[in-house]
Amino acid sequence: MSDLCARCDTRRPDGADWARHTSGLTSTSYLVCPTCEDKGGGMSIRSGDVSATDDQLKLFIERAERLYEEKRGVNDDIRDLFSEMKAVGYDTKIARELLRLRAMAPHDRAERDALLETYRAAIGLG
Ligand SMILES: [Zn+2]
Repeated sequence: MSDLCARCDTRRPDGADWARHTSGLTSTSYLVCPTCEDKGGGMSIRSGDVSATDDQLKLFIERAERLYEEKRGVNDDIRDLFSEMKAVGYDTKIARELLRLRAMAPHDRAERDALLETYRAAIGLG
C-alpha cells in the first residue's frame, strides 16, 4: 500500500488523515490527498458498483500520461542541448561517449580501458 496520493503523487505526511478509496476492479485501496479530493480526485466510489469502479484505473492512466508528457519534454531538452553543443563546435558523438563512460562504475571503466588497450595492441592498432 503506497503512501502517495493516487492522483498527484504527493507523499502523505505522517499522521495525516487522507481519504481512502477502494477499486472495485482490483479490490485494492488507494489514498487521495485533500487537495485532489476537493477537485473530485477521489470521486464517488460505491463498493460493488461496477459503473463507478474505473476511478483508480483512470488515475493510473492519467499519471502515466503526465509522465510520458514530461518524458517528451525532457527528450526535447536533451535534443536541444546537443544541437547547442554542435552549434558551438563540439563533436556530439564524442560527447555521448563521455556520458556513457561517466555513467559506468569506475572499476568497470578501468577494466574496459585495460581490455581495450590489450585488444588494440593485439591487432597492432596504436
Ligand atoms: Zn493529490
